[in-house]
Amino acid sequence: MKMSLEVRVESAIALLNKIADEYEPTVFANSFGAEDMVLTDLIARHVSRIGIISLDTGRLHQETYDLMQKTAEHYGICIQVFFPRHDLVEGYLAEHGSNAFYGSVELRKQCCNIRKVEPLKRALAGKKAWITGLRREQAPTRSDLAVSAFDEANGLQKFNPLLDWSLDEVWGYIREHGVPYNALHDRSFPSIGCAPCTRAVAMVEDIRAGRWWWESPATKECGLHVVAAMKKAA
Ligand code: SF4
Repeated sequence: MKMSLEVRVESAIALLNKIADEYEPTVFANSFGAEDMVLTDLIARHVSRIGIISLDTGRLHQETYDLMQKTAEHYGICIQVFFPRHDLVEGYLAEHGSNAFYGSVELRKQCCNIRKVEPLKRALAGKKAWITGLRREQAPTRSDLAVSAFDEANGLQKFNPLLDWSLDEVWGYIREHGVPYNALHDRSFPSIGCAPCTRAVAMVEDIRAGRWWWESPATKECGLHVVAAMKKAA
Protein backbone atom coordinates (compact mmCIF):
# COMPACT_ATOMS: atom_id res chain seq x y z
CA MET A 1 0.00 0.00 0.00
CA LYS A 2 1.35 3.45 -0.93
CA MET A 3 2.28 5.64 2.04
CA SER A 4 0.90 9.18 2.15
CA LEU A 5 3.33 12.08 2.23
CA GLU A 6 2.11 12.94 5.71
CA VAL A 7 3.01 9.47 7.00
CA ARG A 8 6.39 9.62 5.27
CA VAL A 9 7.11 12.97 6.94
CA GLU A 10 6.08 11.70 10.38
CA SER A 11 8.21 8.62 10.05
CA ALA A 12 11.22 10.66 8.83
CA ILE A 13 10.91 12.99 11.84
CA ALA A 14 10.60 10.00 14.20
CA LEU A 15 13.72 8.45 12.67
CA LEU A 16 15.67 11.72 12.92
CA ASN A 17 14.75 12.02 16.60
CA LYS A 18 15.79 8.42 17.23
CA ILE A 19 19.13 9.00 15.48
CA ALA A 20 19.74 12.17 17.50
CA ASP A 21 18.94 10.27 20.74
CA GLU A 22 20.96 7.16 20.03
CA TYR A 23 23.89 8.40 17.94
CA GLU A 24 25.02 11.68 19.41
CA PRO A 25 26.91 13.39 17.80
CA THR A 26 25.28 12.95 14.40
CA VAL A 27 25.67 15.16 11.34
CA PHE A 28 23.65 15.63 8.20
CA ALA A 29 25.81 16.02 5.07
CA ASN A 30 24.01 18.62 2.99
CA SER A 31 24.83 19.06 -0.68
CA PHE A 32 21.81 21.33 -1.27
CA GLY A 33 19.97 19.10 -3.77
CA ALA A 34 16.17 18.88 -3.53
CA GLU A 35 16.24 15.89 -1.15
CA ASP A 36 18.80 17.59 1.06
CA MET A 37 16.59 20.67 1.29
CA VAL A 38 13.72 18.49 2.56
CA LEU A 39 16.05 17.11 5.25
CA THR A 40 17.35 20.58 6.05
CA ASP A 41 13.78 21.74 6.64
CA LEU A 42 12.91 18.69 8.78
CA ILE A 43 16.08 19.01 10.87
CA ALA A 44 15.95 22.80 11.28
CA ARG A 45 12.29 22.77 12.32
CA HIS A 46 12.05 19.52 14.30
CA VAL A 47 15.45 18.07 15.31
CA SER A 48 17.83 21.00 15.48
CA ARG A 49 20.33 19.14 17.70
CA ILE A 50 21.56 17.35 14.53
CA GLY A 51 24.51 19.29 13.10
CA ILE A 52 24.63 20.23 9.41
CA ILE A 53 27.84 20.03 7.40
CA SER A 54 28.56 20.65 3.73
CA LEU A 55 31.48 20.06 1.37
CA ASP A 56 32.60 23.02 -0.69
CA THR A 57 34.59 21.33 -3.44
CA GLY A 58 35.69 24.71 -4.83
CA ARG A 59 33.95 23.82 -8.13
CA LEU A 60 30.28 24.36 -7.21
CA HIS A 61 27.75 26.42 -9.20
CA GLN A 62 27.13 30.00 -8.09
CA GLU A 63 23.47 28.96 -7.61
CA THR A 64 24.58 26.42 -4.99
CA TYR A 65 26.57 29.06 -3.09
CA ASP A 66 23.50 31.33 -3.29
CA LEU A 67 21.36 28.57 -1.79
CA MET A 68 23.93 27.87 0.96
CA GLN A 69 23.70 31.50 2.06
CA LYS A 70 19.92 31.66 1.68
CA THR A 71 19.42 28.43 3.67
CA ALA A 72 21.53 29.64 6.59
CA GLU A 73 19.59 32.92 6.68
CA HIS A 74 16.13 31.39 6.12
CA TYR A 75 16.46 28.91 8.99
CA GLY A 76 18.89 30.87 11.14
CA ILE A 77 21.21 27.86 11.23
CA CYS A 78 24.94 27.38 11.10
CA ILE A 79 26.20 25.10 8.34
CA GLN A 80 29.76 23.92 8.89
CA VAL A 81 31.55 23.94 5.54
CA PHE A 82 34.58 21.74 4.81
CA PHE A 83 36.99 22.69 2.04
CA PRO A 84 39.53 20.36 0.33
CA ARG A 85 43.15 20.37 1.53
CA HIS A 86 44.90 23.02 -0.56
CA ASP A 87 48.13 20.98 -0.87
CA LEU A 88 46.24 18.05 -2.42
CA VAL A 89 44.34 20.28 -4.86
CA GLU A 90 47.51 22.12 -5.85
CA GLY A 91 49.36 18.83 -6.42
CA TYR A 92 46.54 17.43 -8.57
CA LEU A 93 46.30 20.61 -10.65
CA ALA A 94 50.06 20.78 -11.17
CA GLU A 95 50.26 17.17 -12.25
CA HIS A 96 47.06 16.77 -14.27
CA GLY A 97 45.55 20.21 -15.04
CA SER A 98 42.29 21.96 -14.23
CA ASN A 99 39.93 19.75 -16.23
CA ALA A 100 41.71 16.40 -15.89
CA PHE A 101 38.52 14.68 -14.64
CA TYR A 102 37.26 14.50 -18.22
CA GLY A 103 40.32 12.43 -19.19
CA SER A 104 39.60 9.13 -17.41
CA VAL A 105 37.43 7.55 -14.69
CA GLU A 106 40.58 7.20 -12.59
CA LEU A 107 41.44 10.91 -12.78
CA ARG A 108 37.80 11.81 -12.13
CA LYS A 109 37.76 9.62 -9.02
CA GLN A 110 41.06 11.10 -7.88
CA CYS A 111 39.54 14.58 -8.10
CA CYS A 112 36.42 13.42 -6.19
CA ASN A 113 38.66 11.84 -3.56
CA ILE A 114 40.56 15.07 -3.00
CA ARG A 115 37.59 17.44 -3.18
CA LYS A 116 34.87 15.29 -1.55
CA VAL A 117 35.98 12.04 0.10
CA GLU A 118 38.90 13.39 2.15
CA PRO A 119 36.96 16.46 3.42
CA LEU A 120 34.01 14.20 4.28
CA LYS A 121 36.30 11.99 6.39
CA ARG A 122 37.37 15.06 8.36
CA ALA A 123 33.75 16.18 8.71
CA LEU A 124 32.74 12.76 10.06
CA ALA A 125 35.66 12.32 12.44
CA GLY A 126 34.40 11.75 15.99
CA LYS A 127 30.76 11.38 14.91
CA LYS A 128 28.59 8.36 15.69
CA ALA A 129 26.36 8.62 12.61
CA TRP A 130 25.74 10.62 9.47
CA ILE A 131 22.61 11.32 7.50
CA THR A 132 22.18 11.71 3.75
CA GLY A 133 19.35 12.49 1.34
CA LEU A 134 19.97 9.47 -0.92
CA ARG A 135 16.92 7.95 -2.58
CA ARG A 136 16.74 4.44 -4.00
CA GLU A 137 15.30 5.53 -7.37
CA GLN A 138 18.10 8.01 -8.06
CA ALA A 139 20.52 5.53 -9.61
CA PRO A 140 21.17 1.83 -10.25
CA THR A 141 24.09 2.12 -7.79
CA ARG A 142 21.57 3.03 -5.03
CA SER A 143 18.92 0.33 -5.51
CA ASP A 144 20.30 -1.96 -2.76
CA LEU A 145 20.82 0.69 -0.09
CA ALA A 146 19.24 0.35 3.37
CA VAL A 147 17.71 3.14 5.48
CA SER A 148 20.27 2.30 8.18
CA ALA A 149 23.62 0.67 7.47
CA PHE A 150 27.13 0.60 8.88
CA ASP A 151 29.44 2.67 6.69
CA GLU A 152 32.68 0.74 6.90
CA ALA A 153 34.62 3.20 4.78
CA ASN A 154 34.02 5.96 7.32
CA GLY A 155 33.54 3.79 10.44
CA LEU A 156 30.12 5.00 11.59
CA GLN A 157 26.41 4.38 11.08
CA LYS A 158 24.80 5.95 8.02
CA PHE A 159 21.11 6.81 7.65
CA ASN A 160 19.11 7.57 4.51
CA PRO A 161 15.72 8.73 5.87
CA LEU A 162 14.29 9.59 2.42
CA LEU A 163 15.40 6.35 0.80
CA ASP A 164 11.92 5.29 -0.33
CA TRP A 165 10.52 8.75 -1.09
CA SER A 166 9.56 9.38 -4.73
CA LEU A 167 10.69 12.47 -6.62
CA ASP A 168 7.07 13.71 -6.57
CA GLU A 169 6.99 13.40 -2.77
CA VAL A 170 10.24 15.38 -2.47
CA TRP A 171 8.84 18.20 -4.60
CA GLY A 172 5.41 17.95 -2.95
CA TYR A 173 7.09 18.58 0.41
CA ILE A 174 9.21 21.47 -0.94
CA ARG A 175 6.15 23.21 -2.40
CA GLU A 176 3.89 22.57 0.59
CA HIS A 177 6.42 23.95 3.07
CA GLY A 178 7.94 26.75 0.97
CA VAL A 179 11.41 25.20 1.25
CA PRO A 180 14.20 27.12 -0.57
CA TYR A 181 15.75 25.16 -3.43
CA ASN A 182 18.52 25.44 -6.01
CA ALA A 183 17.55 27.70 -8.96
CA LEU A 184 19.18 25.17 -11.30
CA HIS A 185 16.30 22.74 -10.68
CA ASP A 186 14.10 25.14 -12.66
CA ARG A 187 16.59 24.94 -15.53
CA SER A 188 16.41 21.13 -16.03
CA PHE A 189 19.12 20.10 -13.56
CA PRO A 190 17.46 17.35 -11.48
CA SER A 191 20.76 16.34 -9.84
CA ILE A 192 23.39 18.96 -8.98
CA GLY A 193 27.05 18.43 -8.14
CA CYS A 194 30.18 20.28 -9.22
CA ALA A 195 29.69 22.73 -12.10
CA PRO A 196 32.06 21.10 -14.61
CA CYS A 197 30.59 17.63 -13.96
CA THR A 198 26.86 18.46 -14.05
CA ARG A 199 24.65 19.47 -16.96
CA ALA A 200 20.95 19.86 -17.73
CA VAL A 201 19.07 16.78 -18.92
CA ALA A 202 16.26 16.21 -21.41
CA MET A 203 12.79 15.14 -20.15
CA VAL A 204 13.34 11.57 -21.38
CA GLU A 205 16.65 11.06 -19.55
CA ASP A 206 16.98 9.67 -16.03
CA ILE A 207 17.65 12.02 -13.13
CA ARG A 208 21.38 11.27 -12.83
CA ALA A 209 22.01 11.49 -16.60
CA GLY A 210 23.47 14.98 -16.16
CA ARG A 211 26.14 13.84 -13.67
CA TRP A 212 29.49 12.66 -15.21
CA TRP A 213 27.55 12.17 -18.46
CA TRP A 214 30.65 10.94 -20.29
CA GLU A 215 30.93 7.85 -18.02
CA SER A 216 28.85 4.63 -17.86
CA PRO A 217 26.05 4.50 -15.21
CA ALA A 218 27.97 1.85 -13.22
CA THR A 219 30.81 4.25 -12.32
CA LYS A 220 28.67 7.27 -11.45
CA GLU A 221 29.40 7.69 -7.77
CA CYS A 222 31.87 10.15 -6.28
CA GLY A 223 33.10 7.87 -3.48
CA LEU A 224 30.98 9.50 -0.76
CA HIS A 225 28.50 6.64 -0.92
CA VAL A 226 30.41 3.36 -1.23
CA VAL A 227 27.61 0.78 -1.46
CA ALA A 228 29.75 -2.36 -1.50
CA ALA A 229 31.37 -1.47 1.77
CA MET A 230 28.10 -1.10 3.65
CA LYS A 231 26.26 -3.80 5.54
CA LYS A 232 22.54 -3.69 6.19
CA ALA A 233 21.79 -3.05 9.82
CA ALA A 234 20.04 -5.81 11.76
FE1 SF4 B 1 36.14 16.95 -9.27
FE2 SF4 B 1 33.99 16.70 -10.86
FE3 SF4 B 1 34.29 15.12 -8.69
FE4 SF4 B 1 33.72 17.71 -8.44
S1 SF4 B 1 32.41 16.10 -9.34
S2 SF4 B 1 35.18 16.60 -7.26
S3 SF4 B 1 34.95 18.62 -10.13
S4 SF4 B 1 35.57 15.16 -10.56
